Amino acid sequence: MNEHLIAIAGNPNSGKTTLFNALTGARQRVANYPGVTVERKEGSCKANGREVRLVDLPGTYSLTAYSLEELVARNVLLTENPRVVVNIVDASNLERNLYLTVQLFELGIPVVIALNMVDVANGRGIEIDAAELSRKLGAPVVETVARSGNGKDALLAAAVELADKNAAWTPLRISYGPDIDPVLDEMERKILAERFLTGLHPARWTALKYLESDEDVIKKGKEANPDLSSGLEKMADGVAAHLQKTFSAYPEAIIADHRYGFVAALLKSGVVKRKHGADRIY
Ligand code: GDP
Ligand code: MG
Repeated sequence: MNEHLIAIAGNPNSGKTTLFNALTGARQRVANYPGVTVERKEGSCKANGREVRLVDLPGTYSLTAYSLEELVARNVLLTENPRVVVNIVDASNLERNLYLTVQLFELGIPVVIALNMVDVANGRGIEIDAAELSRKLGAPVVETVARSGNGKDALLAAAVELADKNAAWTPLRISYGPDIDPVLDEMERKILAERFLTGLHPARWTALKYLESDEDVIKKGKEANPDLSSGLEKMADGVAAHLQKTFSAYPEAIIADHRYGFVAALLKSGVVKRKHGADRIY
C-alpha cells in the first residue's frame, strides 16, 4: 500500500500541533532534525484505506534562509517531497497568515488550506467565504476548529484526495512590479535553459531567491553551475542597485510588499465579510 507524506505548515500558534495531535493521536514520535535543536514531530494515521505520514513543520511566517525554523521547514518541503502541504491559517488573522500561503503556492507543492480558528473569527464578527477563497486560490479550503476536532476528517479527506490525484500543480506567479518582473523573467529563462536546480524547485522561485540574496539557495547554485550562478548574482545585483537608487529599498522589501499586496487584493475581492450585515471588512 502506497503511503503519502503530508506536511503541516503554518504560522506559530495557528493550531498546527493541535490539529496534528487530533489527527495522529498516540501514533506520533518526536525527534530533532539532524544537527539542529529544532524539534521534528512525525505521526501517522489512516485515511481512504491508506497509511498517511504527517510531519508537523516548525511554525514560520515566511520561508527565508534567515531563520533556522524557516530553513528547516522549507528543506522538508524541498527534499522530502511531501505530496501535499496542509497550510493551517488562523482565520482570525487571515492577512498575516496568507503571507506564508503565497510562498507555499510559489513553491509549487499542492496545498490544502485549513481555515482554522473559525470559532474565534466568528466570535469577532468575521465571516470568511471559504468557497470563494478556494476559487480564488485554486486550492481546497476546509474550515476547522482544531481544538474541538471539527472539520479535521474533512480536511484529511481533502488532503488525501489531492495527494491521490498526484496531478500537475502550477506554481503561483505573482507580479513583483516593473522594476523586478522583466529581470525575473530573464533569470527564469536562463534557469530553465540550463535546467539549473530545476529538480529541486520551480525556476521562478530560484530566481526570486537570487533576488532575495538567499544564501542557502545561492550556495547550492554555486555548486551546481558556478558560471550561471554568478551570472544570476550579477543580474540580482543590478536589480538591487536600481532599487536602492530609486526607492532606497532592498529587493527583499519590495518582494515582500508585492506578496502583501497580492494578499490584500485577494481579501478585498469578497473573501472576508462581516457576519452581520453586508459590510465588508476590506
Ligand atoms: P501551533 O503553534 O501552530 O502548533 O499552535 P497550537 O496547536 O499549539 O495552538 C495554539 C493555541 O491555539 C492552543 O492554545 C490551542 O488550543 C489553540 N487552538 C488551536 N486551534 C484552535 C481553534 O480552532 N480554535 C480555538 N479557539 N483555539 C484553537
Ligand atoms: Mg506547534
